Amino acid sequence: MTTSRYLADHAITCNGDVSLLSDVAIDVTNGRISWIGKQADAPVHHGPTSELGGLVMPGLVNSHAHTPMTLVRGAGDGLPLMDWLTKVMWPREGQMTVEDALWGMRLGAAEMLLSGVTSTCEMYLFEDALVEAATEIGIRLAITPGIISAVHGNSLAAVDNRITEIAEFHSEYHDPESLITVGFGPHSAYDLPLEVCSEIASAAQDLQTLLHIHVCETATEGAALEAQNGGRSTVQLLSDHGIFDGRVLAAHSIWLNNVDIETFAQKGVGVAHCPVSNMKLASGTAPITAMRAKGIDVGLATDGPASNDDLDLWQEIKFAPLLARVSSLDASSMTPQDALTMATVEGSRAIGNDDVGTLEVGAKADFIRLNLDDPTFVPVTNDDELIAHVAWAGSGRHVTDVWVGGTQVVADGRLPNFDLEQALHEVQSRGKRLAEDSGT
Ligand SMILES: [Zn+2]
Repeated sequence: MTTSRYLADHAITCNGDVSLLSDVAIDVTNGRISWIGKQADAPVHHGPTSELGGLVMPGLVNSHAHTPMTLVRGAGDGLPLMDWLTKVMWPREGQMTVEDALWGMRLGAAEMLLSGVTSTCEMYLFEDALVEAATEIGIRLAITPGIISAVHGNSLAAVDNRITEIAEFHSEYHDPESLITVGFGPHSAYDLPLEVCSEIASAAQDLQTLLHIHVCETATEGAALEAQNGGRSTVQLLSDHGIFDGRVLAAHSIWLNNVDIETFAQKGVGVAHCPVSNMKLASGTAPITAMRAKGIDVGLATDGPASNDDLDLWQEIKFAPLLARVSSLDASSMTPQDALTMATVEGSRAIGNDDVGTLEVGAKADFIRLNLDDPTFVPVTNDDELIAHVAWAGSGRHVTDVWVGGTQVVADGRLPNFDLEQALHEVQSRGKRLAEDSGT
C-alpha cells in the first residue's frame, strides 16, 4: 500500500485541544492518516511527497443541509418560515424532477468542496440523485432520505412503504468505508404524528443508523402538538415516544428549555446549529453554549441554500460565536477553537461519523489547505492568533486544495473533473423553470 506524504507550514489538528503544529508532515495510507507530527520526527518515507506550504486542517462538516435547494436559492426573501415554506419553497420544490435534484446537488457539492466543506449531512428526497452526484464529485455524504407528510402521508400505514424504501436504500448504499452513510430523515414532530416518528426511529435503531429530524426551529411550530399533550414540550414528547433511543441528530434545536437540554445530554442527541439560517428566517438563537456545557455534540450547518443563501460553512464558523457572544453579552462565551471544533470533529460526531474531522492517526484523510499569504492572516505574533485569524477571517477564497478520503478533489482552487460552467447553466435554467411552472 502506497503512503503519500504531505508537508505543510502549519496544521490545526482539531483533535481535542485545537492547538497549532508547525513544520508538519502528514502521511496518508489507504485513505486514512497513518502518521502526523513534526517533519523532523517523521519516519523514513519512500512514496510520493507533496510540499503544500500554507496551513492544513480537517475538512469542514456541514451537519444539516438540503443542498438541491440551490435550485430555489434566494426565493421568498423576507417571509416568515411557514409562509416561506408553504407559499414559495414547497410549490417550487413540488415541480422538481430527479434530473433537477441531480444538478442542484452537483452544483451545491461543488460549492461546498471549493470552500473546504468535505462532508455534508443531507435531508432530502431524490436520495439516489444525491448519492450519484456526491460519488461523482467526491464529497462525503451522510444521506437521510426525507419523510414528509405532504409526500408520504401522515399515517403509519401510509409511511410504511417509505420506511421500507429507505431500509432497502440503506442496505444498498450505507458503507462507512465509502463516502456514503445512510440514515432516516423524518421532517419534524409538527409535520408527522408522534407514532409515525416513533416507527421511523425504530427502523433507524434496528439498522443502528442515524435519525435526523428538525426540532424546535421556531417558537410557535410546536404549539398545537404541545397543547394536545397537556403542555408537554416537543422534546419531552419525542423522548416519551422513544425517538432519542438511538443515534439522533436534531437540527436547529432553538426553543429548548433546561429540561430539554438535559434530555439531549442524557440521550446523547447531537445538534446541528444553523446560525445564519436562523438569523435570516428570524427563527431565534439556539442555546448552544448551555448544550455544549452539558457535553452535547453541536455541529455547524448552513441549512438549505435557500435560507442562507450559500453553502460556505466559514460564515457559520464566524456567526456561531458572534451570536453566542452577543446574546449572552459575554465575549468569552465561545472561542475560535470552539468554533473550529464544532465545524469539524464535533459536527462529524453529531452526524454519526466518528473517524472524520480531525488530523490524527487512524482518522479518514479529509483535509484542506489554506493559503496564508493573505491580508487577513497577518500579523501572527503567537499560535493562538493564527487560529483566531482562521476562525474569524477564514473563508472559501483561502481554500486552495481539498482531499476527501485521501483523494484530491480540489487542486489549486479548481475541481479538475467537474464542469462548473455546465452546472451553473443547468441550475439557472432549471431554477427558472421551477419558478415559472409553480407561479411563484
Ligand atoms: Zn432544515
